[in-house]
Amino acid sequence: MSIIKVQEDWLNVKTSKYVCPYCDKEYTKNGIGTHIWRMHGDGIGWTGNNDGYKKGTRKAWNKDLTKETDERVLKNAQSHSDNIKSGKTQLSGYCSKNYLGSKEHKENSAKGGGFREGAGRGKKGKKEKITHNLELCG
Ligand SMILES: [Zn+2]
Repeated sequence: MSIIKVQEDWLNVKTSKYVCPYCDKEYTKNGIGTHIWRMHGDGIGWTGNNDGYKKGTRKAWNKDLTKETDERVLKNAQSHSDNIKSGKTQLSGYCSKNYLGSKEHKENSAKGGGFREGAGRGKKGKKEKITHNLELCG
């Protein structure tokens, strides 16, 4: 990879950005070097090293492996479990089995949602009450 040196005379004083000497587009000082490498230099055709994943020739080391089929995955699963048991890894409150269905969970759930008096268009809804009152007054 060749290093692109940013020339100070590429600077557009009005916009305080640097003008590409190849295509006249403007970039920031930090961006112009990458632009030139990527569009006019050695970086033409560079796609972020993801080509193999798209073509199917490259895959993550643990794809399709489980703790039953691979000892590296098993080792990681065990150490993760151990860390949860020892308290080294803390699960979020919602995730832990002790929370779901517990008294605390029920209390917190009861605070959200539920019946709101006067809401909606039902028999007890405010809209109904207003029209009813108008009938009485009119
Ligand atoms: Zn350019």
